[in-house]
Amino acid sequence: MNVADSQRVSSALERMGLSFSRSVEEADVIVLNTCVVRQSAENKAYGRLYSLKPLKEAHPNLVINLMGCLVGVKGYEQLQKRFPFVDVFSPPSDPGPLIAYLTQEESRLLEHEETTRRFAVMDDEEIASVLPLPAAERGMLVSAHVPVVLGCSHACTFCIIPYRRGSERSRPADTILAEVRALVAQGVREVTFLGQIVDRYGKDISGGPNLAGLLRMTSDIDGLERIRFLTSHPSWMTDELLGTVAELPKVMPHIEVPVQAGDDQVLANMRRGYTSDDYRRLVGKIRGRLNGDMPGVSIATDIIVGFPGETGAQFQRTYDLLEELKLDVAHVARYSIRPGTIADRRYVDDVSASEKMRRFRLLEEQQERIASEIAARYLGEKVEVLFEEKVKGRWKGRTTTNKLVFIETEDDLAGKVLPVRITWAGPWSMQGASIRREEWETH
Ligand code: SF4
Repeated sequence: MNVADSQRVSSALERMGLSFSRSVEEADVIVLNTCVVRQSAENKAYGRLYSLKPLKEAHPNLVINLMGCLVGVKGYEQLQKRFPFVDVFSPPSDPGPLIAYLTQEESRLLEHEETTRRFAVMDDEEIASVLPLPAAERGMLVSAHVPVVLGCSHACTFCIIPYRRGSERSRPADTILAEVRALVAQGVREVTFLGQIVDRYGKDISGGPNLAGLLRMTSDIDGLERIRFLTSHPSWMTDELLGTVAELPKVMPHIEVPVQAGDDQVLANMRRGYTSDDYRRLVGKIRGRLNGDMPGVSIATDIIVGFPGETGAQFQRTYDLLEELKLDVAHVARYSIRPGTIADRRYVDDVSASEKMRRFRLLEEQQERIASEIAARYLGEKVEVLFEEKVKGRWKGRTTTNKLVFIETEDDLAGKVLPVRITWAGPWSMQGASIRREEWETH
């Protein structure tokens, strides 16, 4: 979400005549887009912010914009007192305050008409249809992220996002489609729709499409090869949505659906709204609907270890669930208190740091083994790969199931979908060789 937000700010600034600077020392405007989902991310944001203070002292005309979840949607008076050297504070996903600040600064020098024209960059529709990507990425970026639902109204007890990104709002379908068309015109071949609970897209807009409908409309866009969406929630993934993924060839068979824990009491304390058996059934349903020919469907999940009160036996149930389901990816995080959340008010962070680390390592080792087993099934197989960019002399791309594949070739593969035979498969990436289309068609 933050990558997509930063792209929007960059393109809005470029529209005002600014250009990208590779070094903060040379910049006239610095946007620090922040994440506070975990304590470590928040510490990093503060560290980076403090590092900008000497620059502002040396160059008083420098404009510093603090953006994102550190600012949130509920006012920033405390931050203003603490960081007086910051000029502009912007909530997540909103380039508006910075554009307004810069435009007002300039308006003393500009004619009224010019000012009005520049204000137009704040209009969502205009940014979407004219300039969704910053210049450095135009014609280069193959895969882009497009936020479709902003905020979240679910209030899981551990999560700070609803407090910082606000309540759930879906973007209008025509704005999203205009943005995707503009991205495709600028070279993008794959879009990933983003939402904290992406499956809830459209629930707050009467008469608009739901996520399945949006995927259908997006699928009709010529030149777009692939569509993905994340993050799903176990309670909101519908049969209609799975049926749409199964039916539309452009929608990739890769589902990101966090379980967070394998113990029902921990899930209830997290207020996730489902049990471990509900999750088991959902994984069975996803595989039943989408697991066709190789490579089939892939499923990714998120886990939090060391949630307040999580006992050794409760953690073991998470371990056992992952062992049973053998999912493709598990993003594991150690619980950290997020001030102001329900868990912060209601529970004591009573699992020690060393025990959290022990549980974290156990799941990491387990997942590496499971991912290696899954990867081994790809060895010698033919898969379709969309290539994105050259990294250290090798072309990097992804399978339909979102597995990373590298191949060596002098050809320019950016934005191409090619059949590849997998020659080496490890837990985190694979290597392959491109094969002729005729060979693919006979497989
Ligand atoms: S669904 Fe829960 S974890 Fe996800 S953003 Fe909303 S509150 Fe946070």
